[in-house]
Amino acid sequence: MIRAMVESPVGDDGFGEDPTTNRLEAYCAELFGKEAAMFSPSGTMSNQLALRALIRPGDDVILDRASHFSVYESAPSADLAGVALNTVEAPDGILTPALIDAAIDAKCRYRPYAQARLVLLENTMNYHAGRLVPVSAICDVSDFCRANRLKIHLDGARLFNAAVATGTPPRGYGELVDTVSTCFAKGLGAPCGSILAGAKDVIEEARYYRKSYGGAMHQSGYMAGAALYALHHNIERLADDHENAQALYTQLIREGVPKSYFSPVHTNMIIIDLASLKRAAHEVTEDAAREGVLVKDISRYRLRLVTHLDVRANDIPRAASVIGAAIRKLMSVNRIYGIAV
Ligand SMILES: *Cc1c(COP(=O)(O)O)cnc(C)c1O
Repeated sequence: MIRAMVESPVGDDGFGEDPTTNRLEAYCAELFGKEAAMFSPSGTMSNQLALRALIRPGDDVILDRASHFSVYESAPSADLAGVALNTVEAPDGILTPALIDAAIDAKCRYRPYAQARLVLLENTMNYHAGRLVPVSAICDVSDFCRANRLKIHLDGARLFNAAVATGTPPRGYGELVDTVSTCFAKGLGAPCGSILAGAKDVIEEARYYRKSYGGAMHQSGYMAGAALYALHHNIERLADDHENAQALYTQLIREGVPKSYFSPVHTNMIIIDLASLKRAAHEVTEDAAREGVLVKDISRYRLRLVTHLDVRANDIPRAASVIGAAIRKLMSVNRIYGIAV
């Protein structure tokens, strides 16, 4: 990847003259079945530019309560896009026409009041343990939104994980939504960068805001070169991450971590919920880090384990044994004090 970056021809993207960035954008537009695409520094920026380009300040947005947008992007959505996030408690994070309809109906929607204009989807879903959103569910939402003049943005930071897991090509998702974003710096392993794909006029509008947000780069071809490399070499191998996550799950069960602590494993993530232990997840994070295994406490009681291209299959047994030992330690302390495990 670094060799590909160094060898990428570059120009000034400010004038649309960076050949590698232009190649990446054309490639991604095609990949997602859209007219145009725009490279930007981060997934957050792609998401925020989609909001800014698709709707107006003061508009309402409907989304799952545990979606990335709700958990991590409520501040920029209010501060930059000036929109209000109307969160919905969707079972397993899967929005349905009925849930969207109820969220619209929950407020007074005649003219002087806020209009619901956009639905946000995410696939795979970070806070739902890498859950796959079925194409059929996206189809239903898409039909509903078209009939009700709502736009849809798909936060596809991990859409390639979904594509690999289901066999649905990226355009199979892209064609159901107005805009789709993805990240090159997650499972695809690039140093940074994200793409936003959509209709030509929407991407033009997003380009205007990318400049005003300070996200326009000049010789961005070096980073676009990394993204192209990732798209050509690192997609199929996401299946290895999914296998490694399954293996890690199986081995953690064998290590004595109760099945009830886990959400189902769909792709490259495992979430372990220690709420029944009433012990802070960061205790496990700290114990595991001392052994060189990095896991993330994503909330007070929940741990997130992610398999990615720097984790090999033969790393899994040791990771399972370290994490398993850290969790068993909390369970045994609880047993001593007669607290439930
Ligand atoms: C990581 C992530 C983002 C944001 O990407 P950054 O490049 O970190 O800004 C957006 N959405 C989802 C679902 C993500 O996982």
